[in-house]
Amino acid sequence: MGCQKTEQLQKWIEKVSSYTEKGKVATYIPALGEADPNTLAIAIYEGPNQCFSAGNVSETFTLQSISKVLTLALALMDKGEDFVFQKVGMEPTGDPFNSISKLETSVPSKPLNPMINAGALAVTNLLPGQTNDEKLSRLIGFIQKLTGNHDITYNERVAQSEFETADLNRSLAYFMKQHGVIEGDVNELLALYTKQCAIELNCHDLAKIGWVLANKGIDPLSGEIIVPFDVARIVKTFMVTCGMYNASGEFAIKVGIPAKSGVSGGILGSVPHGMGIGIYGPALDEKGNSIAGIKLLELLAKEMKLSIF
Ligand code: GLN
Repeated sequence: MGCQKTEQLQKWIEKVSSYTEKGKVATYIPALGEADPNTLAIAIYEGPNQCFSAGNVSETFTLQSISKVLTLALALMDKGEDFVFQKVGMEPTGDPFNSISKLETSVPSKPLNPMINAGALAVTNLLPGQTNDEKLSRLIGFIQKLTGNHDITYNERVAQSEFETADLNRSLAYFMKQHGVIEGDVNELLALYTKQCAIELNCHDLAKIGWVLANKGIDPLSGEIIVPFDVARIVKTFMVTCGMYNASGEFAIKVGIPAKSGVSGGILGSVPHGMGIGIYGPALDEKGNSIAGIKLLELLAKEMKLSIF
């Protein structure tokens, strides 16, 4: 299903696009530094023949931290709530997404939630499958089903670029291995995690994922249950409490919808009762969120009264 360009969305993009100049693209993963900081695009799914867009919505980008929502869903579907939450907590941190400090002070010693890097690494360690290839293809298959886009795969260059520079994530993983939170070979885990973060899609795909989650895990197009009700509920709750890293509180006040961002500049939004949002704007603010993407969501939430609160 294609998305229809709308003048209203285009106007809203134009209203906030100057914010792109105030942000910076992520460079700690060298391949992400090649993105065009001026880009801003949005797609919104509202119904079976209602997909609206503005900007270059077919431009692809990597999921980065948005993948944390999807690996959590898959781990919960496979291992169940009790098992997953033995390894990772449910509380926001107030720290940057890659912080190591609370790992040492939390009792029991497990990452505070699955939306920070430490927690996401612990969840990736639980993905179903025998080998990394099998785990990755389960995850990609799940994302293909959610989006209906069977061409989705991961970007090898971005994955490699992160793998070569992921020493902070490696140290989080070694720390957790020492404390019995994760098992197995740390570099194998990093290889899988960096590929998961490098899964590539566009705003249209992201909006479709948000739409399925908004519809409580049922694909509104096929009627199929892709994500069980309780799993969809849990991941959306994490999106509200921890989805925008240590900006989640301010985002809840100013926008007020379940959302998850990634350092590629993507934002996934899911508005209860049937709206999915996909945004791409690679210029980031100092917390690692798409700077113009957040402004666009603030405008949208105000004009369309989207806040759930
Ligand atoms: N792959 C990135 C990392 O681990 C994801 C972080 C993010 O998007 N916030 O650093």
